[in-house]
Amino acid sequence: RAKQHGKAGHHFFEPSLDERARHRRQLEADLRDAIRSGRFELHYQPLYSLTEERLTAFEALIRWPHPTLGLVSPADFIPLAEETGLITQIGEWVMREACRQASSWPEPLAVAVNLSARQFLCPTLPSMVVQALAESGLPPQRLEVEITESAFAANAEKTIETLHALRELGVRIALDDFGTGYASLSHLRMFPFDKLKIDQTFVRDLASEGNGHAVIRAITTLADALGIETLAEGVEEAAQLAVLRREGCRQIQGFLLSRPIIGNEVELFIADRTSRTEVIRYAPEMES
Ligand code: C2E
Ligand code: MG
Ligand code: MG
Ligand code: MG
Repeated sequence: RAKQHGKAGHHFFEPSLDERARHRRQLEADLRDAIRSGRFELHYQPLYSLTEERLTAFEALIRWPHPTLGLVSPADFIPLAEETGLITQIGEWVMREACRQASSWPEPLAVAVNLSARQFLCPTLPSMVVQALAESGLPPQRLEVEITESAFAANAEKTIETLHALRELGVRIALDDFGTGYASLSHLRMFPFDKLKIDQTFVRDLASEGNGHAVIRAITTLADALGIETLAEGVEEAAQLAVLRREGCRQIQGFLLSRPIIGNEVELFIADRTSRTEVIRYAPEMES
């Protein structure tokens, strides 16, 4: 233990642990406050179909404007929300708000909502989704949920049961960050997903030499054989887009098309004829 390690260890080690614990407690208290006062924002990032040459959906991404820390990214508070169980309330707020906003978008644009592993252990998840759809009037076909492979690690059987319940509602199911989890391929046998979201780590080095192209081709070939849509995450460069198109990837998402945008700017983005979608559509010509 730190105290038995002498003065240096004591001074060096203990205060930092203490500091971290205090910071965590404070953040948890702030998170509870934010839930009580509904102080979160949803930003939306467009998903674009290369095969249909149109926008298909927007992914809802939560942001937390913190009174002193600024805009806190989900990577910094979703894990804490999961550990403390606060994710159930946050997840419900996200679902209701995303469905509400999406119901005013032109048809057939869909909204994609991230569900965390912990939410799958909550028996009322399907009824929460039913409620959000009902109060917003959003047709279930225009809702897509994204789950990561960690949902299988927590409780595979329960997760699969819940996925079937959601599917029966008419909601589509995407497997997020595909390829980064443990035993990715076995998850494809457990549930007939509608879409694979190929993790951005597979997209990052596509413009350089290496076997990245072959990995993308293997995934799209497999997905085609199973009748599953493919989407590449984190597309930032026209050169990456060119490879993805050539290797048969059907949809893309990334900064090349747009960063996540604030909710009330979504309709402007859709209406803007000179928008970035033109950049995507004509990118192959720019490449050659
Ligand atoms: P994700 O679902 O895989 O979302 C994609 C992340 O990649 C987003 O980060 C997005 O801003 C970022 N991204 C998109 N395009 C690019 C690109 O071209 N380059 C780079 N470098 N990044 C790009 P964000 O918004 O920080 O979210 C991080 C993660 O937090 C999400 O990963 C998701 O797992 C989780 N998350 C976000 N919102 C929610 C939510 O409402 N509920 C739950 N449970 N998790 C959420
Ligand atoms: Mg996602
Ligand atoms: Mg992802
Ligand atoms: Mg991710």
